Amino acid sequence: AAFEGLTSRLQNVFGKLRGKGKVSEDDVNEAMREVRLALLEADVNFKVVKDFVAKVKERALGQEVVKSFTPGMVIIDLVNKELTELMGGTTSKLAKANKPPTVIMMAGLQGAGKTTTSGKLARLLQKSNHKPLLVAADIYRPAAIKQLQVLGEQIQAPVFSLGDQTSPVEIARQALAQAKANGNDYVIIDTAGRLHIDEALMEELKQIHEVTKPDEVLLVVDAMTGQDAVNVAQSFDEQLELTGVVLTKLDGDTRGGAALSVKAVTGRPIKFAAMGEKIDSLEPFHPDRMASRILGMGDMLSLIEKAQAGIDADQAAEMERKMRTAEFTFEDFLEQMAQVRKLGPLDQIFDMLPGMGGKMKGLKDVKVDEKQINRVEAIVRSMTTEEKRKPELLNHNRRKRIAAGSGTSVAEVNRLIKQFDDMRKMMKQFSSMMGPKGPKGGMK
Ligand code: GDP
Repeated sequence: AAFEGLTSRLQNVFGKLRGKGKVSEDDVNEAMREVRLALLEADVNFKVVKDFVAKVKERALGQEVVKSFTPGMVIIDLVNKELTELMGGTTSKLAKANKPPTVIMMAGLQGAGKTTTSGKLARLLQKSNHKPLLVAADIYRPAAIKQLQVLGEQIQAPVFSLGDQTSPVEIARQALAQAKANGNDYVIIDTAGRLHIDEALMEELKQIHEVTKPDEVLLVVDAMTGQDAVNVAQSFDEQLELTGVVLTKLDGDTRGGAALSVKAVTGRPIKFAAMGEKIDSLEPFHPDRMASRILGMGDMLSLIEKAQAGIDADQAAEMERKMRTAEFTFEDFLEQMAQVRKLGPLDQIFDMLPGMGGKMKGLKDVKVDEKQINRVEAIVRSMTTEEKRKPELLNHNRRKRIAAGSGTSVAEVNRLIKQFDDMRKMMKQFSSMMGPKGPKGGMK
């Protein structure tokens, strides 16, 4: 899948830091060296990598990561923020003409996904009640006109074509007139691409630009081509002022280089991302979500938002303190369960956890069994207060009594007690991410 290599390498780096209670300046330097290699291997532009690492390192040392209680999380947070910035910071909206129609010119090399993306963009606009007109101005690629017509039919959007004997400039001119006459508020012009950039292509695009005065010139680039995509973007931008980039094939095996470099190198924001061959697979590009995805954090941001709304801060702080000092008992465990449940259905929560979301989404029948969790609660409730506070008291006889009392089996009780320790460790990690010392202040 996309970014897989980068994600696992970065997780490795952070994993090493997370294991440490404290990190030294050397640890930070070493981590940044590995981040640098990971980014280079993901085919991110050399200069971009250099700047990126310098910035994160400066902040990391400036923020005294070395004194932080959760240095790993502080660094992840810094990297997350810088990745977001690198990809443009905020979501970049499509321009809108003062007087309709808004004209969008699509450009790009052949095979990048221009025609497909034109159809997808029309579909996206239809979803917010717009009436786009698609324009078949790629008269050189034999199947392009037909392809656009098929897409138009599929989504019931009109397609303007004058066949392949009229010049693209003339086609664009007449299409605009038709859009005005028919009340189409968006015009999407699918222009010709070549296998490489050439003079004739640029000349034609410039003429179309001249005649239609587009509000948007979107360059469609294939994310799978990595650095090449960025070079293509740079050359197009020199000739034809781009207003934005559409990254396609993010569903494929892209290493990430294009997504991470294109904004920094060209100064043009990524406005949309295409993640599949289906007509519905185009989405506005959200730099923050993409950063979080690259870091393998799932939708950690929404989870943290939810946690902040749902969990009592004082209680969370106290809980965190207990876990840290290993005072965490089965009593706290019950309380923690109640807190976690306030966040919503458990399977949804697991979906948002780092490293779990993707894995669980693929398996439709993997559901967190709420009944199973009720049994766990029943076991804990069958313990005496003393037992809850001192799990080490739980000998065989006590376990037997608890099993009978909770309507479960000794095996289940044993399993829970064994899992309790692991859980303590896991929750310690979880809580350091969500607790007052976590990154929540820094994440948007
Ligand atoms: P054009 O020459 O730039 O107009 O390219 P096309 O629109 O014909 O697309 C070239 C190929 O890429 C087609 O087979 C598309 O189905 C495929 N394609 C386009 N976008 C995506 C995408 O986001 N994901 C995947 N997997 N394939 C895509």
